[in-house]
Amino acid sequence: MRQPFIAGNWKMFKTIAEAKEFAEAFKNFEITSGARVAFCAPYIQLETLVKAFSGSEIGIGAQNMHFENEGAYTGEISAGMLKEIGVDYCIIGHSERRQYFAETDETVNKKLKKAFEAGIGPIMCVGENLDEREAGNAFDVVKVQLEGGLAGIPESDVEKLVIAYEPVWAIGTGKTATAAQANEMCAFIRSEVARLYSRETAEKVIIQYGGSVKPGNAAELMAMEDIDGALVGGASLVPADFIKIVNFKEEEK
Ligand code: PGA
Repeated sequence: MRQPFIAGNWKMFKTIAEAKEFAEAFKNFEITSGARVAFCAPYIQLETLVKAFSGSEIGIGAQNMHFENEGAYTGEISAGMLKEIGVDYCIIGHSERRQYFAETDETVNKKLKKAFEAGIGPIMCVGENLDEREAGNAFDVVKVQLEGGLAGIPESDVEKLVIAYEPVWAIGTGKTATAAQANEMCAFIRSEVARLYSRETAEKVIIQYGGSVKPGNAAELMAMEDIDGALVGGASLVPADFIKIVNFKEEEK
């Protein structure tokens, strides 16, 4: 049995004061679903969140990192710097990074390797855009992203990997993939991991769906066989909304 994993992606939202306020409110809630929970926040809020949630099971993640240990890379942050302040996770290759900041499968691959080396848990994002889906290429696109992103990564690391399937056309648009569409791709991703590594490892990999996940659709998505969690943007910004997604089993009742 894979433990459900629900992660919030705050993107470029919230000040430190707002992050503190969020943490104080969220700490009052009980997690009843048995899910693992994490918040991926802008860099400058990470230390505040690590402290605010210390002693709890809640993990803290960054949204990006560089693939070198250090160097003349103005504006960048290394995996070691994240580790130093107690960060657990890092989103790698989010579609917004691919679209606006020239991330490629090659940089995703280098970042994944560095994250594993540093002991940061990567959440690797894949997903097709609308043109690619309409042209019938969605599966090919995701296959190429997986092959490129995972090149040379050993099986012992891959079994700790979290993969987020995020169809670009469903992110922030209010348009969710249907549970069947999302599950079909998540099952395909698992079969690709099995092809590249082994069925045993594929069964361990946590595969999240992301793209307009809300309290109202989380239970249906999470009930699908190959969907083990969610990467949540907009609905992770409000404690009362996000807890409903985390406790998706109660929403089902
Ligand atoms: P959304 O974002 O939930 O606001 O659609 C998801 C994401 O980009 O991770």
